[in-house]
Amino acid sequence: MNLDFTYPNENLAQIVALKSDFLNNHNIKLFVKADYLIHPQIAGNKWRKLKYNLDFAKKTNKKTLLTFGGAFSNHIYATAAAGKVFGFNTIGIIRGEEIKELNFTLDFAQNTCGMKLIFVDRTTYKILTQEKNYTILSKIIENYIPESILILPEGGTNDLAIKGCEEIIDQRDFKKFDFICACVGTGGTMAGIIQASQNLSNIIGFSSLKGDFLKYDVANLISQSNAKKYTNWEINTDYHFGGYAKYTSELKKFISDFELQFQMPIEFVYTGKMFFGIFDLIKKGYFKPNTSILAIHSGGLRV
Ligand SMILES: *Cc1c(COP(=O)(O)O)cnc(C)c1O
Repeated sequence: MNLDFTYPNENLAQIVALKSDFLNNHNIKLFVKADYLIHPQIAGNKWRKLKYNLDFAKKTNKKTLLTFGGAFSNHIYATAAAGKVFGFNTIGIIRGEEIKELNFTLDFAQNTCGMKLIFVDRTTYKILTQEKNYTILSKIIENYIPESILILPEGGTNDLAIKGCEEIIDQRDFKKFDFICACVGTGGTMAGIIQASQNLSNIIGFSSLKGDFLKYDVANLISQSNAKKYTNWEINTDYHFGGYAKYTSELKKFISDFELQFQMPIEFVYTGKMFFGIFDLIKKGYFKPNTSILAIHSGGLRV
């Protein structure tokens, strides 16, 4: 796959309306914020999360970006591409033993973008991903000067990432929609949207992971001074389809029907689950007639 060397362009991410008989019949207006169009490989929320970190790295003369992820990580994929486009070396600490043949994500990261991949077992991974060990980690990376490395956390969520996610929706757009829907992995994107919202719309985060912990994670990511202020959000855990990157034939069918009908690509790890959830909630009458919903298409496509 060829890397697109143009810079990410946020102006390409417009709000578009989805039109269908189903939506008409239920009297629901559904719009999509098309953040997946920002860049083919540094797309969606991964760009939002990298943006101010890349700025910071440039300003502080970092040469290398180091980050962590599983073999299918969108964050690894986008960081590798961003390194190449913005002129940084990249290192990916990958959870799991080295695989004989690199999958699409890792092949792109290493062979197209030149990311150095370091495979570690799960126990080591757990230790290295802790922020308190970042200094040691940058010191043991051979041939690199510790001061020249910027370490980005697993999934890319830090304060600068959340700042970038606050820009996904323009301030003036919040009051135009009754509901904002977003996908949730680490919760960084959701935290940014909540902080930008000023309580002006209801926000539903669709969890791609199994478990009930994300509401605490998101609350912790909202800055302390604001934590109590925002009461306008919830995490929906009914559409994870078994957990991270798990899927069923029902989800796969929904995705291909959706893509055919709306001519918009989605995928099964994040956006497919969110749109499935939105349509299912509409079917069940969760939204009052005449509700307008804005769904954030946060990317995740492999192109
Ligand atoms: C990574 C990713 C997410 C998860 O974002 P968080 O900020 O970690 O919650 C959501 N959607 C897509 C498409 C992603 O690639």
